[in-house]
Amino acid sequence: MPSDADKLLEDIAARLPEAKRFELAKTREGRSVHGIRIGDENAPHQAWIGSRQHAWEAGGSQVGRGFITWYASDEAKTLRAKTCLHYIPIMDVDNAAIGAGGKEALPLDHNRDWDAKSIYPEVAAAQRMIHDIHAKHGLDVFIDLHNPGADDPIFFFGPFAFERMTGIQQRNYQRWIDLAAASIIEPLKVQSNYRFATYVTSEEERGRMSSGWVRANTGDSTISVTLETGWNSSLMSVEGYGKVGAGLGRALAAYIEENPRRK
Ligand SMILES: [Zn+2]
Repeated sequence: MPSDADKLLEDIAARLPEAKRFELAKTREGRSVHGIRIGDENAPHQAWIGSRQHAWEAGGSQVGRGFITWYASDEAKTLRAKTCLHYIPIMDVDNAAIGAGGKEALPLDHNRDWDAKSIYPEVAAAQRMIHDIHAKHGLDVFIDLHNPGADDPIFFFGPFAFERMTGIQQRNYQRWIDLAAASIIEPLKVQSNYRFATYVTSEEERGRMSSGWVRANTGDSTISVTLETGWNSSLMSVEGYGKVGAGLGRALAAYIEENPRRK
């Protein structure tokens, strides 16, 4: 629920002096889309993590809750000191508020609205902020959390061009999946290879997905992926999702520790 997400952000802001809540946008129906920034704006590393572009994928928010709770803990101190994180717990607040699905919504799915003429104010605002962060400081990591398929394992969708990548790009995407595989181990291991969202068949549509738009609008050292979890399993409970989220945090810490901008 949007009210639960707001409460979580309030708690974290109360705990961490370096945290600042912000309103990403007002939705088409006038609701607030909230986010939190943790860390110095000018920090050497920058990350953006969000969930619920698909309103019904509640497990995505639970992974996010596990992640941000870990991020606010003592274990994440070193990571926090050198990173500015932006975290958005619920993107499609309008559908989440009324309990609607959101996936393949009309006139447009939120995760197909990432182009120059976005119709959702929260998508347009995220694009503007990510653009700005990248222009000023460089974006290191973008992760969108999803929870689409009943029997899905835990896995990352990677960039379609992964096999053809070279240099820093190839190194960083490979390091990410290796470190994630070592860190996301409970309640199930994340798959150690990327999957690719081949069900989206046109380049044009791929470009309108958040991960594709971010890749097209950031740099060679940026990684942009989605983390997918399933739900039809007793392991995929609030507690289980929380562990996945904490593992995601540990993967991020290990990844940033290596300095993805190194030559
Ligand atoms: Zn989704």
